[in-house]
Amino acid sequence: RLQQRIHGTTLEINLNALTHNFNFYKRQIKPGTKVMVMVKAFAYGGGAAEIANHLQTLGADYLAVAFSDEGVALRKQGIRLPIMVLNPVEESFDLLREYNLEPVVFSPEFFKKLGLFARHHAIQIPIHLDLDTGMHRLGFEPKHLTELKKLISAYPELKIASLYTHLVGADEEVHHDFSIQQLDQFMEMKSQVEAVLVYKPLIHALNSAGIVRYPDYQMDMVRLGIGLYGVEVTGKYDASLKPVSTLKTTISQVKELPAGATVGYSRKGVLAQGGKIATLAIGYADGYDRRFSQGIGYVIIQGKKAPVIGNVCMDMVMVDVTPLPDVKAGEEAIIYGEQISLKELADRIGTIPYELLTNISTRVKRVYY
Ligand code: PLP
Repeated sequence: RLQQRIHGTTLEINLNALTHNFNFYKRQIKPGTKVMVMVKAFAYGGGAAEIANHLQTLGADYLAVAFSDEGVALRKQGIRLPIMVLNPVEESFDLLREYNLEPVVFSPEFFKKLGLFARHHAIQIPIHLDLDTGMHRLGFEPKHLTELKKLISAYPELKIASLYTHLVGADEEVHHDFSIQQLDQFMEMKSQVEAVLVYKPLIHALNSAGIVRYPDYQMDMVRLGIGLYGVEVTGKYDASLKPVSTLKTTISQVKELPAGATVGYSRKGVLAQGGKIATLAIGYADGYDRRFSQGIGYVIIQGKKAPVIGNVCMDMVMVDVTPLPDVKAGEEAIIYGEQISLKELADRIGTIPYELLTNISTRVKRVYY
């Protein structure tokens, strides 16, 4: 409460809702299939250490981050689960080793460098191989397989903990055929790699949308991301998930303005008939996107919609509260949560819920309950 009064804006994280969503996905998968949870980008904005800690108690099997420093931060907070690092660099080899992080290896060159590092230090390093079946971001392509198989034999210091691929459009029906093509290609590629191994790595391909759309391909592990945070991107199970985060701010001032008054920078907000505005303690520097300016966005005050008027400022935004007779400074405004879904807000500015979640800046305090 005090924090909300000092900064004005808080991101409330409902850990019970997170548990509910985790259990929903657990029910979708076979008992033997492991769950890796994506806690990259500050756990989709929710706070990596707190969420990873909660996941540890819920029985998640693996975590994944994008960069090595994200993994180091989790270890420093006492997280003991295995952590996969999607996009490691050579400069972080020492950190990977020191903090027991498991890098993704995505090219023959990288494999060789890491293999030499492991040999030099006489250690074994668990690694994850990214097989590119159509994302064309990182990963070994079919043309690299012959070389990859030779490298695997040449560097037994690198232990293949898992083989995976990533679907480009598991959430969209229009990409169904391409998803199946990717999964088929993955099965072929992973069999070729498995043929040179004397042990069995974990095999995984599905993100949140994939878990619900392609249950036959759950294999050894799934990689849960956005669904855990309460957004069901396929739209099939919307009602089964609970929103995890509520972004709230506070009214700093209420003003009655005469007919013809304009509001904010560049005089973009026009009150032709006059009316009442509330200034909120959130702006684009907090992650309230400037594209919500001029009526594109709205907030909830006293259970009612209050549209944005004028341009979103760096630390504040003004909303039209003319129809609300007794709004006062100090009252709460909901940016998103139960009453405004992230999907609806994202649609309004032509983006995706992932971007809204991960854009909430660090100066916004996270409060867990
Ligand atoms: N796997 C990989 C390799 C990813 O990069 C991501 C997220 O971007 C995920 C899984 C999780 O995806 P989602 O959040 O859609 O579940």
